[in-house]
Amino acid sequence: MLNCGSSSVKFAVLDPTSGVVAVAGVAERLGTPEAEVRTARGAKTATVRPPDPSPTAVTAAVLAGVREDPGLPIVGVGHRVVHGGERFTSAVLIDEATLDAIRAVGHLAPLHNPANVTGVEAAQAAFPDVPHVAVFDTAFHATMPPVAYRYAVPDAWYRTHGVRRYGFHGTSHRYVARRAAELLGRPAADLRLVTAHLGNGCSATAVAAGVAVDTTMGLTPLEGLVMGTRSGDVDPGLHAYLAGRAGLDVEAVTRALNRESGLLGLSGRSNDMRTVIALAEDGDADAALALDVFVYRLAKAIAALAVPLEGLDALVFTGGIGEHSAVVRSRVLRRLGLLGLVEDAAANAVHGRATGGRISRSTNPAALVVPTDEELEIARETSAVLEART
Ligand code: ADP
Repeated sequence: MLNCGSSSVKFAVLDPTSGVVAVAGVAERLGTPEAEVRTARGAKTATVRPPDPSPTAVTAAVLAGVREDPGLPIVGVGHRVVHGGERFTSAVLIDEATLDAIRAVGHLAPLHNPANVTGVEAAQAAFPDVPHVAVFDTAFHATMPPVAYRYAVPDAWYRTHGVRRYGFHGTSHRYVARRAAELLGRPAADLRLVTAHLGNGCSATAVAAGVAVDTTMGLTPLEGLVMGTRSGDVDPGLHAYLAGRAGLDVEAVTRALNRESGLLGLSGRSNDMRTVIALAEDGDADAALALDVFVYRLAKAIAALAVPLEGLDALVFTGGIGEHSAVVRSRVLRRLGLLGLVEDAAANAVHGRATGGRISRSTNPAALVVPTDEELEIARETSAVLEART
């Protein structure tokens, strides 16, 4: 499994059936002198500073390390690709035509898709004899109906430029939705779920009978919830207002909405939820407001997602914040009594570990903590594509 971003590379060698991870690693801050590669193989961990920190050199070195390890027989490589546009509604085998098609939707994710394609090319060079599969962040959301994915803007923007809502984090939403059904001991076909993926990026998805029917992210991963450095929803008139008022151009406003907003923008201190909570608990009013806005907007979005579901059987928390922050979960649940959710404070405090993930006293709807596993989901989807081929 390879996940090549613009400044980071994540990789893992794992068995999609057992889920056993032979080796996993992450290379971060690529292209800077602080670049580092951390790997874990069993209990052994290592951190190295690459001699050449460029993304290309580090990716090639990581792949060579895997290839030259006789204990890691590779039968296929699954690649995370952020945007599949309308063209890709499921994972696909990569050939030249697929790669061209991924390049052709690159304008929809200019920061991500080019890096993903570079990763595919590097891995094809390192592993020319095994199949490669693209697993798209957008694919799980391809089942959304037009009423959920169309914006009320001129029709030509959709037809000519693909302006519609796509949704992201699909690999994670799909994985936790399936896992939630297992934990609840109920068939996915009977369940109406809202899955809340709360990491550095945050999105929530309504899942009915195992398929996505609406989600909070849109054309880009900027729409929807408040995130670490991203604003989530703002007034669409904002760019014009700031252009007139502060002389900021589109690029400057877009950069600020992506990198200087969210928890960081409101708190003025940090994009990291742990820090924001610690500051709020120490009496920092800006951090307290950042936490309040994050929770309030998340709760509103979850309640809105109950509309397409016409009810709710379970709310699922995942991602770094969803899995680890009892404070955020508790505050969200306390705002969602109208849906019938009642927090089990003791279970929530220990992340639902003793209760099969359940952190609510209410059982229908239930609230669950489900750790995500995007690497495993990518490996599984890769393996499914390879099996369907034979
Ligand atoms: P990414 O989206 O980059 O994969 P993660 O899913 O790891 O990131 O989520 C990162 C977020 O999770 C950060 O905001 C971090 O503060 C938050 N987080 C991690 N552990 C905790 C914790 N114990 N309490 C609150 N937030 C946490």
